[in-house]
Amino acid sequence: MIQINNLSKTYQLGKVSVNAMINVSICIHGGEFVAVMGPSGSGKSTLMNLLGCLDQPSSGSYLLENFDIKNLNTNELAEVRNKRIGFVFQNFNLLPRASALENVELPLLYGRVKNSQMLALKALERVGLAKRSKHRPNELSGGERQRVAIARAIVNKPAIVLADEPTGNLDTNTGNEIMNIFSSLNNEGTTIILVTHERDIAAFARRTIEMKDGYIYMDKINSEIAV
Ligand code: ADP
Ligand code: MG
Repeated sequence: MIQINNLSKTYQLGKVSVNAMINVSICIHGGEFVAVMGPSGSGKSTLMNLLGCLDQPSSGSYLLENFDIKNLNTNELAEVRNKRIGFVFQNFNLLPRASALENVELPLLYGRVKNSQMLALKALERVGLAKRSKHRPNELSGGERQRVAIARAIVNKPAIVLADEPTGNLDTNTGNEIMNIFSSLNNEGTTIILVTHERDIAAFARRTIEMKDGYIYMDKINSEIAV
């Protein structure tokens, strides 16, 4: 599903160049549940942004579902980001003036999908939030906001969900509830890749990749699974 080879990313800050990611190679199969760990600044978000086609690598190759990302034009890349990949962020990234339902509907509107309201409501139901569909983000708790963000990420039924520290702003119980949603999505076949600082959160995944200074120094199958 995902195959990256010797992928590197260098950011240019004036005269200084920052090697955020150095020669990273990984293969992730459909249906995997992967946690990415590592200290702050180790390149986790850089990796996620490259995997999500939100950013271009400086060198190396990325095959997504056997397509070389380099060969896709701007429209094709937008299509991949809209339909094939769902994103969940630490800060939820919801539109403050839009209701939960409208937030979830947005990717469908971009994709000109019919019955968008009904599909958005279904996605909210999937995360247990149908009753809050008319609420705006500031009328929802952190956990509820993140559930809206997950509903938005899955509304187009993407093959892959990328989550960058999705529980970083949540208390332990709420974080575990969010992780249970990811686990059940994974059980239904969605490939999940998530970044976390916490061992307890990483334990929900079946494989852990550890990054340090822009490279991968460990990649292992989890022996214990939390659920
Ligand atoms: P993590 O998510 O593991 O905390 P990041 O991938 O965000 O790490 O960052 C890796 C390194 O790249 C850090 O040194 C960071 O300062 C640098 N970096 C990240 N994004 C940018 C950017 N847009 N411009 C310049 N440097 C960046
Ligand atoms: Mg980060």
